[in-house]
Amino acid sequence: MKCSICNLNEADQTGAHIFPAWMIASAFDHKSRTRGYEIIYAKYPLDSKLPFFGNSVSIDQIKDQIGRDLTNEEILNQKNMFTVDNLWCRKCERRLKQVEDYFLETVERKINDFSNCNDTDRIELNNSNNYLIRLFLYSIIYRASLVRFMGFTLNYKSAKKLNFFLNNYIKDDLQSTLSFISSSYRKDQLLKYPIRCIKTEQEANSAGLVFVHNKHNKPYCLIINRYIIQFYGKGNQANFKPNSFFGISSIIKEAPEFKNYKEEVFRIGLINQKLWNNVMSSLFNSQVSYIMRNHIRRFELMHKLKFGYMPDKTLITLFIKELIDNDLPLGIKYTKEKIVEAMNRAIK
Ligand SMILES: [Zn+2]
Repeated sequence: MKCSICNLNEADQTGAHIFPAWMIASAFDHKSRTRGYEIIYAKYPLDSKLPFFGNSVSIDQIKDQIGRDLTNEEILNQKNMFTVDNLWCRKCERRLKQVEDYFLETVERKINDFSNCNDTDRIELNNSNNYLIRLFLYSIIYRASLVRFMGFTLNYKSAKKLNFFLNNYIKDDLQSTLSFISSSYRKDQLLKYPIRCIKTEQEANSAGLVFVHNKHNKPYCLIINRYIIQFYGKGNQANFKPNSFFGISSIIKEAPEFKNYKEEVFRIGLINQKLWNNVMSSLFNSQVSYIMRNHIRRFELMHKLKFGYMPDKTLITLFIKELIDNDLPLGIKYTKEKIVEAMNRAIK
């Protein structure tokens, strides 16, 4: 298979991260170690798999999460949802690393002081290269779409555009990239798409999350652990209207302007811990009710198949109680096996 980024080389990169490891590490390991220590829960509405355990996670930690060790078969079936095999080539992986490292040094490691952030704040990156920062953000958005992460897809035109940007502007090494960009008379085409990048204050031990909105495209919305990214794939800022996006949009409305559009200097928005907690709880509430509705739908369907009619309210409540009200470790509580057991107990 040809590389989905350059479309030239064989797609020979295995274990490639969709999002840089440093970006998501603290979401899945309290000590923010990047490889092998992740414990990843995938909470899709119809996903009922075990969590993913990195290969350095201890047996005790696994027992903590699922009440036992993994079986050989389960070990074989473990899949880290944040890595992909043979979708792009090693050369492209190295090219993307240039902009990843640039963002790591310029934003991730530099912007950590929230002491002046009274709810929200804005940092202007005066001495940074906004083209490289944008290319990094584009690489994230493009990869999320390439792998259909949580169902996310860019429209055809935006995907093609971002792919062109990544191929045209990121060269084999940083020096060549920088000199190409500075000498390119068309480089400002990179700035013609409204984009916001917000860094959130998160305590070291708070569990982060990764969430990509698969419905909204005006703008496209991504939460990648500490970063909220909003991108509009048309060069028209008038339509860069916020949607509710778990309260983030109303935060943005009140805040100093975070948007970047044909900018001279790239702006990073900041949101403090208190506002971030509000976003998290709004996101969790909406996900939990979505997931619960899906469990109920499955139960209704199963009941109809078995008895020919829908279950009544009392029975549905009983099923939910059987599903939730138990001491099962979180890692197996909502696996397919346990859902079926709860269904069977409910209709007994
Ligand atoms: Zn490639």
